[in-house]
Amino acid sequence: MEKINLRDYVATVKDYPEPGVEFRDISPLMGNGAAYKDAINQIVDFAKDLNVELIAGPESRGFIVGSPLAYALGVGFVPARKVGKLPREAVSASYTLEYGGVNELEIHKDAIKPGQRVLIVDDLLATGGTINATRRIIEELGGVVAGVAFIIELEALHGREKAMEAGEVPFLALMEY
Ligand code: IMP
Repeated sequence: MEKINLRDYVATVKDYPEPGVEFRDISPLMGNGAAYKDAINQIVDFAKDLNVELIAGPESRGFIVGSPLAYALGVGFVPARKVGKLPREAVSASYTLEYGGVNELEIHKDAIKPGQRVLIVDDLLATGGTINATRRIIEELGGVVAGVAFIIELEALHGREKAMEAGEVPFLALMEY
């Protein structure tokens, strides 16, 4: 079978969502069965030696990466939702957005048990604010971050440093831009 080049499935959109920004759109990757499967399989390989007990992903593209991964690994999935969407007691963390403004994510308090090993995933790492907030909530709940994985890392924004602020953990990005 021909090897898949995931870069062929990333669309670059100039001046979106604002002038001067190059937006990396992974919709073509998600829309192609072979490319989507290849991306998830690469993250499954990364996760294999990390003793992962749960996958966590921020709303909403973290769900698209995290759910098939949780299914493939046979572990649960924990959504980090935008504030106000969860019906029961939750822990939240806020962060500043790449294009300005503040956002807040939250996770149900009983979603993670102390000591559980959690792999955090999202489609893309930009400034690292999203992943840092997700990590803070997980650690506040007593979870152990087993690693972080992304389909894309925007290297120039140094999000990796922000992701590792609370300590180094295994890191995977399938593509760097
Ligand atoms: P960060 O918090 O600055 O790291 O931004 C990462 C979050 O914003 C992720 O949840 C992404 O889905 C989204 N995001 C930021 N920039 C892009 C982009 O160029 N393409 C797709 N998503 C992006």
